[in-house]
Amino acid sequence: MSVNIKDICWLAGLLEGEGCFIISKNKTPRIQLGMCDLDVVEHAAKLLGGVTIYTAKTIVDRKTFYVLQLGGSKAIGWMMTIYQFMGERRKTKIKEILSVWKQTRSTRIRKMGETCSRGHLLTSASTYLTSTTNTLSCRDCRRINNKAGKTRRREKFLLKKVG
Ligand SMILES: [Zn+2]
Repeated sequence: MSVNIKDICWLAGLLEGEGCFIISKNKTPRIQLGMCDLDVVEHAAKLLGGVTIYTAKTIVDRKTFYVLQLGGSKAIGWMMTIYQFMGERRKTKIKEILSVWKQTRSTRIRKMGETCSRGHLLTSASTYLTSTTNTLSCRDCRRINNKAGKTRRREKFLLKKVG
């Protein structure tokens, strides 16, 4: 889904009112939105991309609540996108999350050493956070692994054909 400036403004307004910007204990940045209006949450999920919605019940009147959660680099990307439209309180929070995230990232890179096990130079641009395990990985290695996987699959396919 292509997102235009109107969508971004709409999202910013919605998140200003109903959203939550968090950085969890294991330093994963997160955007959360919880509302009783499914259509609104669904629209937000579509714009944010690749988000699943789960339901929860409100404690007081047991109303169904629709919650979406976006984490990792995607959440960071969106925080940066909507930053200029947010009020002071949210801006401060986003800045705080961004600085913790940057710090964690560079600490992780330092811990990994300057290069990966294959010898690729590690920078914040050459690494990415895996969304499932939230660990830092090397982009060059991913490219190599993907290629190797493709070659293996191709070989398997050809072997099958040969019988
Ligand atoms: Zn590597």
